[in-house]
Amino acid sequence: MTNTSVPFSRLHTTGKELEYLQQAIATGAIAGDAAFTKRCQTWLNDHFGSRKVLLTNSCTAALEMAAILADIQPGDEVIMPSYTFVSTANAVVLRGGIPVFVDIRPDTLNLDESKVEAAITAKTKAIAPVHYAGISCEVDEIRAIAERHGLLVIEDAAQGMFSSYKGKPLGSLGNLAAFSFHATKNIVSGEGGALVINDPELVERAEIIWEKGTNRSQFFRGEVDKYTWVDVGSSFLPSELTAAFLWAQLEDGQLITQQRLQFWARYHSAFAELELQQTVRRPIVPDHCQHNAHIYYLLLDSLETRMAMLSHLKANGIQATFHYVPLHSAPAGQKFARTFGELSVTDDMSDRILRLPLSANMTAEEIDRIVMLVFEALGSQKTVEPLFHPLHQQQVS
Ligand SMILES: *Cc1c(COP(=O)(O)O)cnc(C)c1O
Repeated sequence: MTNTSVPFSRLHTTGKELEYLQQAIATGAIAGDAAFTKRCQTWLNDHFGSRKVLLTNSCTAALEMAAILADIQPGDEVIMPSYTFVSTANAVVLRGGIPVFVDIRPDTLNLDESKVEAAITAKTKAIAPVHYAGISCEVDEIRAIAERHGLLVIEDAAQGMFSSYKGKPLGSLGNLAAFSFHATKNIVSGEGGALVINDPELVERAEIIWEKGTNRSQFFRGEVDKYTWVDVGSSFLPSELTAAFLWAQLEDGQLITQQRLQFWARYHSAFAELELQQTVRRPIVPDHCQHNAHIYYLLLDSLETRMAMLSHLKANGIQATFHYVPLHSAPAGQKFARTFGELSVTDDMSDRILRLPLSANMTAEEIDRIVMLVFEALGSQKTVEPLFHPLHQQQVS
């Protein structure tokens, strides 16, 4: 075992990125919406079985497009977890809308669907669940609520590439879904993202918003004879260089996911013993969800234990980290959003979570060394209540 440092996330390349970048450059057409963009979009569209997929500069951009498509007007509300990245909320705030934060489930840390319906008001336009750690939220229940109240479902699937729910890929389940190919995600293009449009009524407007508010796409298809400004829009499409890099990653996407799953499983079985002793709680993957090993996390007994473990790992060159500062407790969250009910699970989980390094190109030795350091940091026994819930009867396996 060596004592080299392990970053939280290490860039994994497939070996084809440079070749595709060179190909893109050789065509002379490196703006957006050329050959590699189309190749990625067609591949993703087939993968999701969607109406349309548009590559974007980021998941943030895809969420902003989704908020325009959902027609969020000043004062309109969108229900979402507080335990998420700022972009889920910012997209709504940029339209003058109000994020309404609902608590999360203690098992998957996803939006607690049992608390959503009571948060709906006459102003509610959409529900934006996040698939945390690439583990699906309870989509059937959320969709049923949305249907009863005429709301859109916008999946924040930033972390969900190659995960599924009851056999269907995340991103294929909402009216709209936003993905991220940011360098910290599983499939990367530096910055990058995609908007998946499953609702046929939103396709035409999505293309226009994507093309800066023009009907350029319809013009190139020969559907209109002039190309002009027809709606709001912005510069949402990435360059061909981003798309070329992404193509190399998508081609190897299943392999990258398999590699990550192996390391995730290695952590998971190594920590089974600690869970039996009630020293940690491991991630819970409901039986109807296939995940993509986006995050391996542990829930510890307290903030103090978490901080002590972070510094023990850091002292040994291991870059572990906590996760979201709940948005309702952030200055902008207090200014722009409101909460519905208690967010006690959100506050508790965000205090106790610790994320461990995970990349497709790690080594088993690195995992084993991190596991050993976690055991070492827990030298004094702590108690974490086991969690029993209907989704997953067998906690410890
Ligand atoms: C990473 C992430 C985003 C933002 O993705 P970008 O591509 O960096 O804009 C949004 N939401 C969630 C849940 C994320 O994890």
